[in-house]
Amino acid sequence: MDLSFSPELEAFRQTIRGFLATALGDDLRRGAAYNGGMFQDYETNIRWHRILAAQGWAAPAWPARFGGPGWSVEQRYLFASECAAAGAPALAPMGLGMCGPVLMGHGTEAQQAHFLPRILSGEDYWCQGYSEPGSGSDLAALNLDAKREGDVYRLNGSKIWTTHAHHANWMFALVRTDRSGKPQTGITFLLIPMDTPGLRVDPILFVSGEHEVNAVFFDDVCVPVANRVGAENDGWTVAKYLLEFERGGGNAGPGLEAAAQRLHRLAADHGVRLPEGKLTSLEVTVEAVKTLEFRLLSALGQGQNPGPESSMLKTLAGHARQLLSELTVELLGPTALGGAAGPRPPGATDEVAAATATAAARYFNMRALSIAGGTDEVQRDIIAKRVLGL
Ligand SMILES: Cc1cc2nc3c(=O)[nH]c(=O)nc-3n(C[C@H](O)[C@H](O)[C@H](O)COP(=O)(O)OP(=O)(O)OC[C@H]3O[C@@H](n4cnc5c(N)ncnc54)[C@H](O)[C@@H]3O)c2cc1C
Repeated sequence: MDLSFSPELEAFRQTIRGFLATALGDDLRRGAAYNGGMFQDYETNIRWHRILAAQGWAAPAWPARFGGPGWSVEQRYLFASECAAAGAPALAPMGLGMCGPVLMGHGTEAQQAHFLPRILSGEDYWCQGYSEPGSGSDLAALNLDAKREGDVYRLNGSKIWTTHAHHANWMFALVRTDRSGKPQTGITFLLIPMDTPGLRVDPILFVSGEHEVNAVFFDDVCVPVANRVGAENDGWTVAKYLLEFERGGGNAGPGLEAAAQRLHRLAADHGVRLPEGKLTSLEVTVEAVKTLEFRLLSALGQGQNPGPESSMLKTLAGHARQLLSELTVELLGPTALGGAAGPRPPGATDEVAAATATAAARYFNMRALSIAGGTDEVQRDIIAKRVLGL
């Protein structure tokens, strides 16, 4: 897509570039370049988050009344593009991109006043407690039992695949408060402090060796009723609202474009021609993501929520990431297998060295993109029913 920007926007771009040139240190760039996981590692993420927060730019999409910078859609796009091109770390979405929008849409004024500034500053770090053993695609089947006892809910059961639960001090979670009717009508949305007695986090390691996800166990965990978002048994409405933001956050395109350019530089460095078919598929998918994202950003700019089209964005962006990781491994061949422990290729630039060190981990970890946040099969069902009306 060819976009030209007004002189004011070009001036804005220069402001962003100037900021990145000083604020984004080599250690942060390195942390991003050597990240082989699905998510940015916690330490790099939180350092960059705090730098952006001090500048007032941690949450480009948040309205100004909640502490966002009040940028236009074009400014947000330029900011995301410049950050991606400069190799900045991607911030964790659980607080800024998921819990924050939910509190703006469904939280009480007291919850907004307490939690939103803490999400913005990076003081609170969130994890998402949706999936359970036996309840992933069929999320409404969730079973974590929450009994009302006066002004608390008593929780017993478990959650699984909880990303960064071992770093988080808060979890937003779906719990079962009623079993009498349809499964969707007995779910409640709760905010749970991770240091509550009776809550335990156990690690689950990826095949790549990384520790990103966990199992979380609840044994008589008491959560104040004041931590409920929305009405009791109306958590499904809140849950679906959040999933639209999870699947269509609106900033995948610039990251994909920057990654595609890195791939081309890697191919040129190795004197390799990338396979025509996969390359075309990648280019078409990245363009489709960008087009969808512009539509989404303009809808968000008019105060709308992402809607079911976010499922299209989620599957396409995941497909593009997987293709990128596949092409990188194919291009590097056996050297990709050395991973982070392998030798630095002789004479390699920093970019080539980082790509070589992370290629295998990224290849394995990106397989999860067509599962995490809702599988591709389920997204296609949503697209068929709610976007295409089939
Ligand atoms: C890396 C990673 C991070 C994650 N992080 C989190 C997190 O932070 N918080 C959280 O709550 N969850 C998290 N998840 C869980 C994720 O949301 C679930 O894995 C996902 O929703 C799929 O559920 P499942 O694993 O139970 O698979 P299942 O639902 O058992 O699906 C198994 C297979 O059956 C297919 N299938 C199921 N139902 C249908 C259907 N109706 N039509 C067609 N096909 C169907 C699926 O597409 C899939 O291929 C994470 C998962 C991964 C892999």
